[in-house]
Amino acid sequence: MKWRNDSHHSAIFVFAHSMFILTGISVILPQGLILAQLFQNLHTHTHFSDGSDAPPKYIEAARLQGLSSIGFSDHSPLPFENTFALKENKVSDYCDAILALRDPFSSGASHVDQPQCGFPVFLGMEADYIPGIGHPFSHFQTNYPLDFLIGSVHLVRNGSSEELWFIDGPDPATYDDGLNALFGGNIRKGVTAYYRQINEMLTTNKLDIVGHLDKIKMHNRGRFFSETEQWYLDLVDETLDLVRQLGVFIEVNTRGVYKKRSDSLFPGPALLKKIKALNIPVIISSDAHKPQEVSMLFDETAGLLFEIGFRERMNLASTGWESLFLK
Ligand SMILES: [Zn+2]
Ligand SMILES: [Zn+2]
Repeated sequence: MKWRNDSHHSAIFVFAHSMFILTGISVILPQGLILAQLFQNLHTHTHFSDGSDAPPKYIEAARLQGLSSIGFSDHSPLPFENTFALKENKVSDYCDAILALRDPFSSGASHVDQPQCGFPVFLGMEADYIPGIGHPFSHFQTNYPLDFLIGSVHLVRNGSSEELWFIDGPDPATYDDGLNALFGGNIRKGVTAYYRQINEMLTTNKLDIVGHLDKIKMHNRGRFFSETEQWYLDLVDETLDLVRQLGVFIEVNTRGVYKKRSDSLFPGPALLKKIKALNIPVIISSDAHKPQEVSMLFDETAGLLFEIGFRERMNLASTGWESLFLK
């Protein structure tokens, strides 16, 4: 991999790479019809963090489901007891396991007899940002040969409080309890802290992709606030402006919808319209925790993005980031 982690942090880079559109991975029939677009998924969790299976199972599924390549992004370790992140002393094992599965023709590895032979595999991480807690992202980028890093907020800190608000997971009661305990049930304060934490992540770390940007809405489901309220839209605008300035990509994450935990994608259609208007590059991902989830709702998501006006999506190749035709 020649791609360096800071290589796309300018609008010029993104612009320059629009020339790759013409080389997008599509199957062209002799008549000139485009048969299919091959997607990539870079957001995948294995049994090294909270996924179900070993990495080869995901590669097998990605091939069967017609993906062009796969990236692994297990959760970065955190300095407290938890059930979802990589253990600090397992990060090297995780990286070694993924690197051993690389395309033997591009890496020199010797796995020609294995089913993943010839299939591009990327090593990444979904790094958790909690102010003052855990390693800065540069720790992982310096010490491990990561191809990409997704930055996400799952746990919201209120000032110097040692308690954290867990906004993810399957149970809305956890969300409600945390909101009450840390923010006195004041949703506006809680949501503001969430977006401010994303802003701080963006300004204090280098990352390639912002993970599930509006996941804070997942357990809201219209109970505490409406995503059309001005204060909410102002917070979103502030964050999107930073994302645009820093040249970071936004993932369009399908997990909330296929797990039936969210009525819309992360981010939802209203935010996607803003993202399109700001020309922020997007990448489609499924946040797979099981092999069968590696390409869930990709076609539908590409269709929705196309309707909104997007024509390109980002793709990681062995030569670096490129912009491909959406569909
Ligand atoms: Zn996540
Ligand atoms: Zn994830």
